[in-house]
Amino acid sequence: MFALENLVRRNIWNLTPYSCARDEFKGRAASVFIDANENPYGTLNRYPDPLQEELKAKIAAVKGVPSECIFLGNGSDEAIDLVYRIFCEPRQDNVVAIAPTYGMYGVCADINDVEYRAVLLNDDFSLDADRLLTAVDERTKVIWLCSPNNPTGNALQREAIERVLTEFQGIVVVDEAYADFSDARPFRLDLDRFPNLIVLNTFSKLWASAAIRLGMAFASKEIIALYNKVKYPYNVNILTQRQAMKVLDDLRHIDLWRATLLSERAAILPAVAELPICKAVYPTDANFFLARMTDADCIYHYLVDRGIIVRNRSRVQLCGNCLRITIGTPQENNALLGALRQYRP
Ligand code: PMP
Repeated sequence: MFALENLVRRNIWNLTPYSCARDEFKGRAASVFIDANENPYGTLNRYPDPLQEELKAKIAAVKGVPSECIFLGNGSDEAIDLVYRIFCEPRQDNVVAIAPTYGMYGVCADINDVEYRAVLLNDDFSLDADRLLTAVDERTKVIWLCSPNNPTGNALQREAIERVLTEFQGIVVVDEAYADFSDARPFRLDLDRFPNLIVLNTFSKLWASAAIRLGMAFASKEIIALYNKVKYPYNVNILTQRQAMKVLDDLRHIDLWRATLLSERAAILPAVAELPICKAVYPTDANFFLARMTDADCIYHYLVDRGIIVRNRSRVQLCGNCLRITIGTPQENNALLGALRQYRP
């Protein structure tokens, strides 16, 4: 049986969180604010809503997740770090993650002094749930999954993820930063079925707002209450909150961008695959793809010399000689293809 209380660090379970000035009067009408030591003059002089309620109401409507099941942070990176601070006792607990995957799960483990157990995906980058679960022991608090996965691009099989969610009694994080580019049903719609699930989303990818630093975690309201206890009081600034609301008020561009990026993706994959310097292009459900080249290091430097920057993943496990390439504008994609066609080993 899943028991949240047994997974949470004692100091966090027992924590009395900081109480913001604005939290205390909540619910009553007021016009004189002399409770928070702000300067009464200026336009950005007031602290923002610590729980970002207006913004969460808009996100709730778009994502189909209730407001009380949403945490907002300074990028998904904040939501990743807080998982360690809430659940993992430094030097005692461990986490299990797929490999290769997004680097911040491991970096945050190191920062928090928590053992990180990386379990390789299959050669085709699919998830072997049995192999992953054999790495779990009684001190494993969290399993990290990323779907579609970075840097491999593929969505993990839903049945394998569901097996991990049902067989593991700790927290399972499914990072769906790239789910908007995939046809797979997103896991955030299944929060009711999995009390141990945390799903991550971000404004940085399809929503074209990487600069505002806004990430989302979706989970049971009990898990979100723990996030709210531990986060900095005003972790999402008002400029970010306002800009995010603007994005949500007009999602038409976003649908157009998705259509354009998916059609560019469909065109560029076979064009790269047929180059003599490309050994394989892997199927992708994201706005990037992984290409195995004859000599990734040389091709990477050749592209840099032409002002084209891709990600060289050739030193990542299972990704020998691989470049990770983001789908850009049609002009950017053509510039890449033109340069690759002119490459001479
Ligand atoms: N998750 C994944 C899988 C990512 O690839 C990235 C960024 N590359 C992030 C999270 C970070 O997102 P954010 O900008 O919201 O911190």
